[in-house]
Amino acid sequence: MLYDDNLTTERPTFVTHLECAYTGERHAADEAHNLSRAGKPLLVRYDLAGVAKALTKEALARRAPDLWRYRELLPVRRVQDIVSLGETVTPLIELPRLAARLGSTALLVKDEGRLPTGSFKARGLVMAVSMAKAFGIKHMAMPTNGNAGAALAAYASRCGIKTTIFCPEDTPEVNVSEIALQGATVYRVNGLIDDCGKIVGAGKEKAGWFDVSTLKEPYRIEGKKTMGLELAEQFNWELPDAIFYPTGGGTGLIGMWKAFAELEAIGFIGPKRPRMIAVQAAGCAPMVRAFEAGVEHAPRFENAYTVASGIRVPQAIGDFLILRAVRDSNGFAIAVTDEAIIEAVDEVARGEGFLMCPEGGATYAAYKQSLADGRIGRHERAVLFNCATGLKYPLPPVHRTLDLNKEIDFASL
Ligand SMILES: *Cc1c(COP(=O)(O)O)cnc(C)c1O
Repeated sequence: MLYDDNLTTERPTFVTHLECAYTGERHAADEAHNLSRAGKPLLVRYDLAGVAKALTKEALARRAPDLWRYRELLPVRRVQDIVSLGETVTPLIELPRLAARLGSTALLVKDEGRLPTGSFKARGLVMAVSMAKAFGIKHMAMPTNGNAGAALAAYASRCGIKTTIFCPEDTPEVNVSEIALQGATVYRVNGLIDDCGKIVGAGKEKAGWFDVSTLKEPYRIEGKKTMGLELAEQFNWELPDAIFYPTGGGTGLIGMWKAFAELEAIGFIGPKRPRMIAVQAAGCAPMVRAFEAGVEHAPRFENAYTVASGIRVPQAIGDFLILRAVRDSNGFAIAVTDEAIIEAVDEVARGEGFLMCPEGGATYAAYKQSLADGRIGRHERAVLFNCATGLKYPLPPVHRTLDLNKEIDFASL
């Protein structure tokens, strides 16, 4: 099949302005921004009537299977600013054996581990870096639990932007190494991700770095939004009943929720929405606490700990956006223990040959817990997000050896 080429076709763009997610105040497009004047995340707004006229489902179906196929709903204006490493559409994988064991008829995993740098952070950072390139930004900095830093380093190096990256000292070894190898200057810091974020904030003031922390610039959400666009297209413009999303800063959950609103506005889907389920680790569950307390903002979760490092985010600046999407969709927030996460990774790997990352394992554990307590029905079509390849994480050691100098007892092997 010959595709229309997503990366070279000239095209009209539709961004009109940016909007403060809290106050609604307008900010100009086409200049670099961090937070809004009210200190909240900025959302990109489009001329959706214009998009509706310019884009049909049929035209979309002829485009190459990468995230640039949704270009009318993306912020990059000039094709030459696109900094791509091949952001492929990710597949929906069934877990038929485990589903049968659970009595579920409708379980799918969206496998984001296939993206460049091995995680879905690539979706957000390819957009943020392409926009930074368009704005002529020369030096970007971020705090990271690993995967975001790796994606930033990769895309920034690809277009000659300098990067300085800070991660908590117990960040998985492979993340720190890949960040360095992909051209960033990376430091381990004896604190958590929000402590690292404070260093970036200070460096922004003192050294002029561009701060690309989660939700502190407007374009990572736009990249992550493509998960929602892809899901809708993969479900033939109907949405699943429930989405289990491992929630750290919440960019993906907020982005998908935004995507669904935009798709409805351009007439591609109706008003039906999936239930958005924010999955967190019991050792770091600020959203679960705030959801259960019925409040709009989530205070810092002290002494945060979990093996699922991607969701070890004690405080999120987009807390109110996460909680609104969860509540407006009739979803919920749920915490799972580290033991349940490790067991889930093991169960899916042995049972289905699918090596999930711990955060992905958390969604499977949450799905099982929700089936058991009745918050999810067996026939509700559920999508779990596996956000990174399981190969990026420390794996359990294997001690079994075979001595060539001894006779092999084949019956015992
Ligand atoms: C960053 C990350 C998450 C959390 O994603 P957010 O959209 O920032 O909440 C989950 N899993 C993995 C593997 C991650 O790297």
